[in-house]
Amino acid sequence: MKACRACHFLTSDNMCPNCKATNLTTSYTGIVVILPGKKKREDPRKTSYIASRLNIDKPGKYALKVR
Ligand SMILES: [Zn+2]
Repeated sequence: MKACRACHFLTSDNMCPNCKATNLTTSYTGIVVILPGKKKREDPRKTSYIASRLNIDKPGKYALKVR
């Protein structure tokens, strides 16, 4: 899995499916999984401290720290 440098999204593709960036790296530490909220399209930043700290607005797998 590679991590997107722009939004930290984890993917096995060569392009980030979240923000369409191609600036991916394998140099990252830690994985964070943001689960979907009870309501559809709920902003995870409202209910998750981690999501608000990392500024994640969509559920998914993210790298904690990208180098
Ligand atoms: Zn991205």
